[in-house]
Amino acid sequence: MLAQRTRLFASSGTAAARAAAKAASDAGKEVIDLTAGEIWSDLAPSIREGALAAIERGENRYTDTVGLRELREALAAKVSRETGQVWHTDEIAVTSGAKQALFNAAMVLLDPGDEVIIPSPYWTTFPAQVLIAGGRPVHVDTRASGFVPRPQELERAITPKTRAIVINTPSNPTGAVYDQTTLEHIANLAIRHDLWIIFDECYGAFAHAPHVHHPIVSLVPEVRSRTVIINAYSKTLALTGWRIGYMAGPKSVIDAAKALQSHTTSNPNVIAQHAVLEHLQRGDGSYERRLSDQLAQARRLGLDILSRQTLAPLPSAQGGFYFYLDLGSLLDIGPGSATPRSADDAVNALLAEAGVAGVSGSAFGDHMGLRLSYGITHDKLALGLERLVETFESWTKASRNVA
Ligand code: PLP
Repeated sequence: MLAQRTRLFASSGTAAARAAAKAASDAGKEVIDLTAGEIWSDLAPSIREGALAAIERGENRYTDTVGLRELREALAAKVSRETGQVWHTDEIAVTSGAKQALFNAAMVLLDPGDEVIIPSPYWTTFPAQVLIAGGRPVHVDTRASGFVPRPQELERAITPKTRAIVINTPSNPTGAVYDQTTLEHIANLAIRHDLWIIFDECYGAFAHAPHVHHPIVSLVPEVRSRTVIINAYSKTLALTGWRIGYMAGPKSVIDAAKALQSHTTSNPNVIAQHAVLEHLQRGDGSYERRLSDQLAQARRLGLDILSRQTLAPLPSAQGGFYFYLDLGSLLDIGPGSATPRSADDAVNALLAEAGVAGVSGSAFGDHMGLRLSYGITHDKLALGLERLVETFESWTKASRNVA
């Protein structure tokens, strides 16, 4: 018999979508996989050199639980630059990816029964971790407001049990970038209602002009004592497999996270830490610029192809590397039609009919969304989206015939 706790979570919906794409491909189908939460790219030279040098030096020992002091210093300097405030080493913990940083935050901030406001559609791990920590996720639907929550709707969701609010900008899955005014309102809400802000900016490096990513602590400095910033190199340096993330927050939070981490994973991989340290010390920004340009080109290419279909409105894709489509009009298709009537059905049909794999919005609490990643090579992206457009058009035609 397994623990009751195992009923609180299942393998993530994005992992399930990836597995379905792989199963179809293993079965011999030619699949264009647009499910990935990662960017296709070579290693940054500084990362490669930093890792090789660490191996040559024979680095093989534990480091401090929350990371090498030099790495924490370099990260404190980075967060200071990005926020325009002074951050100290003891306000930074290096973690095994952003996921561990978020998990640490949930475990050290939440008591059983505490409510956490999570705007939806949401990245699937946010509510799962809140549940594991004994909390209760409370979702505020953002579909009617361009995927950015209206502050008054957030305020309506606050109860005496509310302990924290999760802000993820740019958002996975929606690609929404929160504007300055909304963030200021959220910061003031948090102050007024004594809430923590868990500020996930893993996609902060990928806000597409004219959209700009704002760290919430820069806009309202008074909120810093109640904010935990979550970030990682998984997306920024296309290093998903290397597992280096960090959290920045009040020393008391970092100390508690360190104690927790000392009983869970201990330090993140030592070679990966040295690689990121080398990058922070010697990187000249050219790798990041290349990655941003690659994504900007992919975004333009993808939007151009998606503009040729009429089933779903063109996504705004303000940040990150996801197109998030609203398939609501599938519901208008006559019941007699064999075409899909939900995002889950659409994802299955796309894979079966067109060999294109995406992630259903149901993984993100939205039964009519479809997430397509444009972090893959441009030729595959173009092929995948062209097939998707053809399939959408065939569904639309079929629905007209039924009507
Ligand atoms: N936060 C968000 C919003 C994400 O989309 C992801 C990964 O997809 C993570 C955190 C986790 O990142 P990592 O791979 O660094 O654990």
